[in-house]
Amino acid sequence: MLKLPVYLDYNATTPVDPEVLKEMLPYFSETFGNAASSDHAYGWQAAEAVALARERVANLIGGTSEAPRTYLGGTSEVPPRSIVFTSGATEAINLGLKGAYEAYASKGNHIITCVTEHRALLDTCQHLEKLGASVTCLGVDEKGNIDLNELEASITDSTILIALMYANNETGVIHPVKEISSIAKKHKVLFLCDGTQAVGKIKVNVDEDGIDLLAFSSHKIYGPKGVGALYVRRKDPRVRLIAQTDGGGHEDGLRSGTLNVPGIVGFGKACTLASDTKRIGSLRDKLENTMLDMEGTKLNGDKNNRLPNVTNIAFANAPELLRTIRGKVAASSGSACSSASPEPSHVLKAMGLNDEMAHNSIRFSLGKNTTEKEIEFVIQELSGQLLAVR
Ligand SMILES: *Cc1c(COP(=O)(O)O)cnc(C)c1O
Repeated sequence: MLKLPVYLDYNATTPVDPEVLKEMLPYFSETFGNAASSDHAYGWQAAEAVALARERVANLIGGTSEAPRTYLGGTSEVPPRSIVFTSGATEAINLGLKGAYEAYASKGNHIITCVTEHRALLDTCQHLEKLGASVTCLGVDEKGNIDLNELEASITDSTILIALMYANNETGVIHPVKEISSIAKKHKVLFLCDGTQAVGKIKVNVDEDGIDLLAFSSHKIYGPKGVGALYVRRKDPRVRLIAQTDGGGHEDGLRSGTLNVPGIVGFGKACTLASDTKRIGSLRDKLENTMLDMEGTKLNGDKNNRLPNVTNIAFANAPELLRTIRGKVAASSGSACSSASPEPSHVLKAMGLNDEMAHNSIRFSLGKNTTEKEIEFVIQELSGQLLAVR
């Protein structure tokens, strides 16, 4: 029997992998020490566990992780010290943007970003605008791609930071990260990348990709919620940040507060686990092809340049479809992260969809627990509904 509704919202969050949970559990009870307690074994044990996790997280974005060979290529030495643990990607983005804005105030106040970024990044930019930042928001074409010439042309003498995501959470569209970073390097501008959707799904290597600040999150890669990281480049260039949370000076002074040891341990373990993106990709294609064969459907995004696990489809004239599949398929209309407001997706609107089409679009995101049976069930349900509403 299938568990209903079938979960196809892995871009919103993922279940904790059983191996991750197993490794976390002792750190809630027996091994409960404060990683900052340097006077006794309770503290040392916690600190040791955090150190291992830090190494594992660093290895994932340097291509030297224990397991995920399927999506790791070249290798780089990412020093564990360059990982700052946070409460998630949102906080990591806040720390990177606000911290750099403050630290580089004498150089300039200009930040370049893009309309299709996650709200965590756009709202932080908006906050900085109120403090005096000048923000350029690049547009995208109908497939969700930016124009690199436009990016380079928008750099000025006061530009301090380019902030662009690796892969989009709604469409899966991948930004040309290597090209972006060489433009940034050429003009001596920092490159902050929101890697939350890319890390763990495709190869992300901060050195090869030329990323100075990388934000990512545990709960999108089968780790627990409430933990994430900001990678901060230590060399070539050495990135300076001003802390946004003051206190005991934890995390090299960049993020004070007692560490979430069980969460960090789980995040570390999650970084060592591989998921078979090839299998997920072929299930995604199967689902997508059936949908696109139906009349009145259209793909949102760039078919040839996106994550393997997601498809975002507009269903013309089918508001009832969204309602009727609700109990059977757990997918997302627009972005879950902005579902507090009923506004149509800002990402889809930036790609030229009107309000109605944006409202009638559904994101299906698959993950490592997705089975062939589930996809067959969803295909059956959706095709039945689509025929019924036509
Ligand atoms: C989920 C997500 C975030 C927010 O991450 P949290 O860890 O939940 O704060 C930021 N950016 C992207 C692209 C995301 O998918």
